Formats: sequence, structure tokens, C-alpha cells
Amino acid sequence: MKLKTRLALYFSLVVAIMAGATLFFMRQTTESVFRSFIFAGDTNKAKIYATILGEYYREHKDWEGLQAFLSEIPQLAFFGLDERIHGERGGEPAVPSPSSTVSALLSDRIAVADSNGIIVGDTSGSLLRTVHPARHLTHGVPIVVNREQIGTVLVGSMVDSSLSGVNELFLASITTALAWAIVVSAGIALLLGLILSAQVTRPIVSLTSAVRKVAAGDLSIAVKTAGETSGKDEIAELAISFNAMARELKRLEDAKKQIIADSAHELRTPVTLIRGTIEAMIDGIYPRDIPTLESVREETVRLSHLIDMLRELEIIESGKLALKLESIDCMEMLRKAAALFAPAAMEKNIALTVEPSSSPPSIKADYLRVDEVIYNLVSNAIKYTPPGGTIRLSAKSDENRAVTHICVDDSGPGIPVDERGRIFERFYRIDKSRATDRGGRGLGLAIAGEIAKAHGGNISVEDSDLGGASFVLTLKPA
Ligand code: ADP
Repeated sequence: MKLKTRLALYFSLVVAIMAGATLFFMRQTTESVFRSFIFAGDTNKAKIYATILGEYYREHKDWEGLQAFLSEIPQLAFFGLDERIHGERGGEPAVPSPSSTVSALLSDRIAVADSNGIIVGDTSGSLLRTVHPARHLTHGVPIVVNREQIGTVLVGSMVDSSLSGVNELFLASITTALAWAIVVSAGIALLLGLILSAQVTRPIVSLTSAVRKVAAGDLSIAVKTAGETSGKDEIAELAISFNAMARELKRLEDAKKQIIADSAHELRTPVTLIRGTIEAMIDGIYPRDIPTLESVREETVRLSHLIDMLRELEIIESGKLALKLESIDCMEMLRKAAALFAPAAMEKNIALTVEPSSSPPSIKADYLRVDEVIYNLVSNAIKYTPPGGTIRLSAKSDENRAVTHICVDDSGPGIPVDERGRIFERFYRIDKSRATDRGGRGLGLAIAGEIAKAHGGNISVEDSDLGGASFVLTLKPA
């Protein structure tokens, strides 16, 4: 079942339960309040009747003839009312006898029980001479004559719990009004619920279709994120995250394609070279001797080095590289690198120095990986700096000690400004033939950049005061 339909069904169910419960409780409460109201009215009337009936008993000394007296009460009440309006000597009453309407208005059900609980008077006649249980009589009003209870009077709801026609009608009309109010508000609630569920599910529907497209390989998809500007809700955030995921997948996919294309291109040259040499040896063009085989072996070594670098780059880029972070003394590390490259520098008559630092800067990093970056930078510096030049290794913390910079400066040709962004790309070489002659494949700086990134740092290049390039590796301090 679709989410939209399920939500609509849930809404309907909740609204139906709420409406039913509200109707039931409101009806119950209204009826009970209404009954108490009627009972209160009947009690007041019963008090008045108790006085009248007390007078009657005082006069007659017993309840004989009470039934006839009770049937006259409406008329008595009417003339009493008339006297109130016209005064005792107001002459002829305006209406000679009570009309049927008035008597109907005043026709309360009155029942009178004597001191033994036997009904001695009942306007409806049905209860006459029956014994009324004492617990029923407690609702009634006692008729007291000379401080003695000579009976009990019960009026309307005290005798008969069923509501009179008018009262029943009143209650029914309240129930109908209530039911209508509930049906209308339930209808509005349902409509709003349906609109809301359509609104809630709309972005989910577009997300689902986008996810399907991604699953089918279309990574250029992006879902609308209306929430980006107007208050972010969970679904808007999901859409934003989805778009970020799709972008990242696309980037990785493009990168993968690029790597395959670049790698194929880069591997082709040495493989062609090896194949050509071997074929030439078979055809007898090249001598089948040790020096020729040695050149083939050198090419295979270079090839396997290239494959190793590609593998390393793949591991770092895919985030599979597990870093073993430790505190590293940068000066110590630079001194070791200088010692390692001293013979190569001496061979090219290059002055390779380590600049002393007053405060020994340290970093929190994977020793072997950072050592690899420094090895690459120094080996590049020696490769590209002409004989008689200078290479300087240094490390420093920034002013507030938030980061540490490790610098490799040289007096070589430097990096032209427009090439600076690109030299960290895979297989990028400024002067391809010259760099390849020097054994370069354009992977060293790409690996250095990825290692820096994996550490949460970065690597950049600028002009050096020595006249060449200044490579700066920035990492977090220990
Ligand atoms: P390679 O193996 O070709 O040196 P790198 O990624 O280490 O690959 O360097 C990329 C390119 O950046 C090099 O081909 C070279 O043109 C340039 N480069 C790197 N270091 C220096 C430097 N110290 N001085 C001048 N050019 C450099």
C-alpha cells in the first residue's frame, strides 16, 4: 500500500476514533449535567409542594382525599399566578380557567408517600398504594408537620427517571448539534490530513524516483530541496544529503574513469617499450645479451613502481588508508631526510640544509606517510634543481600554534603560477618529456596531496626566497 494512502487511512482512523469518543463523552456529560439540572429544579418544586401538602395534612389530619387535591394543584398554581399578576382584589381573573397548555406546563408528576413509604397520592395514579423502597424516598423532600415527618413528596425526575418529551427533545437536539459539529470538524481534519499527507509524501516520492535512477546508474540526478532556504525539515535534509551523496558518487565515478584512462595511457609506454625490445631481440635486431636484458629489466622495475604508486593512490583516495597517528618531532624527521639525500645532493653539488628552529615544532601524524611526502618533495627538489643550487628544509608553527608547516625550498626553476593548482593532479607534469626523462610519472605530488588530505591538512606551493619552488606541507600540531 502506498505511503500516501496509508497515511490517509491512519488519519481517517484517528479522526473516526476521536470523533466517536468525543461524541460519546459529550453526550454522556451533557445528559448527566442536564439530569442534575432537572433534578435541582424538581427538588425546588418538591420543597414548595412539601409546604402545600403539609398545610393539607394539618387541615385534614390524614391523607384521605389527597389524590383529588393533587389533580387540582395545576389550577391552584394558575390562580395563584393570576393573583400575583392582578392582586388579591384584582376583580375577575383574566382567564376564567387554566387552559390546557398552562395545565400541561404545570403538570408535574407528583407522588406522595406516607410515613410508611406507601404511595398515598400519585398524579399519574400508577403507583397508588404501592410501597416505595426507603432508598428511593431519600431523593424526595420530607413533609414535616409539627416537627414530625408525616410523608415524602417526590416530583418529576424523583419518581420517573425517564425524561419528559420536551426534555428528551432538548437532549436529542443537543446530541444532533454535537454530532454535526463533530462530523464537520472531522471532515475538515480529514481534508487537512489528506493535504498534509500529500505534502509530506511528495518529496519522498521524488526522492524514491531519484534513488531508483541512481541505482540504475544515472548519477547526474539531483532532487529539489525547497527546504534549503525555507526552514529545513528532516525530509529536506534527507534530500540535501542525497544530493551530496549523488555528487560524491559522481565525483568518484569520474575519478575512477579518469584513473583508468590515465593509467592505461601511462602504462602503455613502458609496456610498448618492453614489448618492442623483446620483439627486436627475437627478430635478431637487438643482441640477445645481458645489457639489453638489463634495460628490459629496468623498464619492468619502473613499471612495477608505477603500479605500486597507482595502488597506493587508490588506497588513499578511497579512504582505506589506516593512519597510525603519533607525535612526531619535525626537525628530527627533516634531519633524517637530509642525511638520506646528502649523497645525491653532493653528486649534483647542491647545498642541502636543515634550517634550525628555536621552538621544535611537532605534528600528530602517521610517521611513514609523512616521511614519504618529505622524501618525495626532497627527491623532486634534487631532481629539478640545477647543479650548484640550494635546498632548504625547515619547519615552523604558525603564530597561535594551530598548525605546523613543513617547508622544502629550492633554487630550481620553480612552478609557474598557472601550473600550481594542477601539479597535485595525478600524472600531471609541467614539462612531460623532461620530467619523464628524470623518471617522473607525475604521481608523487598527487600522493603527497592525498596523504596531507587524509591527515586533515594540505600541501601547497609558492615562490621560494631561494629563487625556486617552496612546497609547504601543513598539518595539525601534536
Ligand atoms: P614527478 O614524478 O613527475 O616528479 P610529481 O607529482 O612529483 O611527479 O611532480 C609533478 C610535476 O611537478 C613534475 O613533473 C614537475 O614538473 C613539477 N615539480 C615537482 N617538484 C618540483 C620542483 N621542486 N621544482 C620544479 N618543478 C617541480
